[in-house]
Amino acid sequence: MEKLYARVIIDISHEKVDRPFCYEVPELLRKEIEVGACVEVPFGKGNTLRKGYVIELMDVPDFDPNLIKEIQDVKTGVQVENKLIKLAHWIREEYGSTMIQALQTVLPVKQKIKQKENRILIRKCTQQDALEMAEACEKKHQGAKARVLRALAEDREISYTLLTQKLHISASTIQSLKKADLIEEVSERAYRNPLKDSTFLADKKVLSISQQKVVDDIWADYEQGVRKTYLIHGITGSGKTEVYMELIEKVVADGKSVIMLIPEIALTYQTVMRFQRRFGDRVSILNSTLSAGEKFDQCERAKKGEIDIMIGPRSALFAPFTQIGLILIDEEHETTYKSETMPKYHAREVAEELARLHGASVVLGSATPSMESYYKATVGEYGFFTLKERVTGGTLPSVYIEDLREELRKGNRSIFSDRLQELIRDRLAKKEQIMLFLNRRGYSGFISCRSCGHVIKCPHCDVSLSKHANGRMVCHYCGYEQPAVTACPNCGSKYVLGFKAGTEKIEEEFRRMFGEVSILRMDRDTTKTKDSYEEILSQFMEEKAQVLIGTQMIVKGHDFPKVTLVGILAADLSLGVNDYRAGERTFQLLTQAAGRAGRGVLPGEVVIQSYQPEHYSIRWAAKQNYESFYQEELMYRSLGGYPPIANMMMVQIFGEEENAGIAFGEKMKQLLKEFALEHRMVIIGPANAGIGKIKDVYRSCLILKHPNKEVLKKAKNQLEQWLSTCETEGKIVQFDFNPMNAF
Ligand code: ADP
Ligand code: ZN
Ligand code: ZN
Repeated sequence: MEKLYARVIIDISHEKVDRPFCYEVPELLRKEIEVGACVEVPFGKGNTLRKGYVIELMDVPDFDPNLIKEIQDVKTGVQVENKLIKLAHWIREEYGSTMIQALQTVLPVKQKIKQKENRILIRKCTQQDALEMAEACEKKHQGAKARVLRALAEDREISYTLLTQKLHISASTIQSLKKADLIEEVSERAYRNPLKDSTFLADKKVLSISQQKVVDDIWADYEQGVRKTYLIHGITGSGKTEVYMELIEKVVADGKSVIMLIPEIALTYQTVMRFQRRFGDRVSILNSTLSAGEKFDQCERAKKGEIDIMIGPRSALFAPFTQIGLILIDEEHETTYKSETMPKYHAREVAEELARLHGASVVLGSATPSMESYYKATVGEYGFFTLKERVTGGTLPSVYIEDLREELRKGNRSIFSDRLQELIRDRLAKKEQIMLFLNRRGYSGFISCRSCGHVIKCPHCDVSLSKHANGRMVCHYCGYEQPAVTACPNCGSKYVLGFKAGTEKIEEEFRRMFGEVSILRMDRDTTKTKDSYEEILSQFMEEKAQVLIGTQMIVKGHDFPKVTLVGILAADLSLGVNDYRAGERTFQLLTQAAGRAGRGVLPGEVVIQSYQPEHYSIRWAAKQNYESFYQEELMYRSLGGYPPIANMMMVQIFGEEENAGIAFGEKMKQLLKEFALEHRMVIIGPANAGIGKIKDVYRSCLILKHPNKEVLKKAKNQLEQWLSTCETEGKIVQFDFNPMNAF
């Protein structure tokens, strides 16, 4: 019998996952040893027995066979680590990376840190008194005090860190409220609120018939032991979160744990409180404001069974629960669910694998589902639900599309179309709020004609060319390039430009045209500190300003009842981005942005300005018609051989020398030539990346396309094999399946 060897890591909660050691698998234990198995091995000079985990099995040892020791024993009983290591192994196979990289992704990192005591603030006065006090403080312009009082009027107790982090309250403000005997502080250990349970129940809503149907159908499956993925397509405000909470409650009552993914940007104070109010201290939240030590503590609580629900961005998937019953992904179309570093995993796919390992169900929700999920839902691979109405009412806004080419012809050179100007004046006079949205994404490279709207595209791909520093225009999907144009190839106009108007420029322009108005601006510059994002939003909510100007950050999940006008200044900007997801992303952004208007009792209006008003993404977003957009987009994806119809894998090459990446890519292409012929796999490139150099590292890529992802994975395995043996001369190769962003 051939010998079998295992790589074992001894201490997996170490700051860096330890170096693996090679052991021989004795014949007697063969049946029981698999990746993830917990084993006992002799370690060190004294051969003391230590606990370790198998992370890989192999036929050939990577160590001198004469010195290799044998695994002594296998521990039975499923451990948390077992499933996480299996998951890491799957991630490694699926996306390509080293096992250590995969392990570092899934295992919580331990760091020595002092356990912080949880401080809690409690309201000492009645709810009515707190509200009256809050009003009095507002009159005296004591905004911070008022915010604390309002929050405490709603919830009698609030965690100190939540208050300081999410509501930006300083220690001195809290001190002065304590002095006034309005609040008191206790440590969590000393305090357990007996009323807690009843306050949670108070927040439970009676579900509407359509909400209840979703819950009933999913639950019926669950009780029959059916586990699958479901998609809930429902506009914002259609009650998806209530459905999630109802399902969570049922699964938790069944003794299982729940993971709920929410994009970091939507993890606002309101959202967090909503879950805490319903589930109390059985819920924990991971976000980027937590330190590594705090994150580790949260994971420990999950492992010990102190919590049932973990909420957070994509890394919350790796909360070490022993028995997961349900994984929810809200706003499942968000690009942040894809990791940008190796392994470049997609949280949706990992969630499905994790659910398989645990026997759990997956529920996805979105107002504008990803093409991938909607496709699977329509072909019956996913359970599928639609929530059509807003629970709290409100009317859909009227949407106008303004043709910026026409404005230019009329002699209007400002960033605001005539109609938008007129509506802005109207709202300023009525003292209603305005949101102006500029999609800044990718405005640098994209070249379009300001007279006719023509976007200069690659003749071989349906993506726009990007302008390179050397003056040439390049397609980085196929490598096609041509010299930069000085006149529009369509109409001859000399106004062929990259659009450049940052939010700052818009603010300036706004003041010049409409005079002194209170304006808030939200972009990367004004949100450098962790909490400034929420600070700006709460200021706008409190009507401290009449106008909010911002990038896509302002369109995510917030309700501003006083906003009656939304202006989208140049809807084309994301269409210029050179990737096949541009149409989808534009549609999602415009739909979200348009949905900002008319949330309250006042009806809203939306102005979409565009150089290509006839583009289907823009037309369907204006009509808020997801299905029609989907059909049209699917046709283009299928013509181009893109997901969800086909799969692609980008092989990214990073190197310190210019052009070396291309030569290296050429080698890989040669290597795959036969395989490609045999499987009819398309290879495009190698070509320079859209951003050819970042931080002195040159980037180039090779694209592989095939309807079947398994074929691409085989190609990846071949490349990984070859890379492990060849001389890469410092070049780094990464794999990105169905990339989310332009490279
Ligand atoms: P979504 O997650 O789809 O945006 P939410 O679940 O947040 O929708 O619901 C939107 C608003 O409607 C929330 O304020 C929520 O409390 C309220 N709501 C949802 N379902 C109900 C219901 N069945 N009865 C009363 N209010 C509801
Ligand atoms: Zn033109
Ligand atoms: Zn091309």
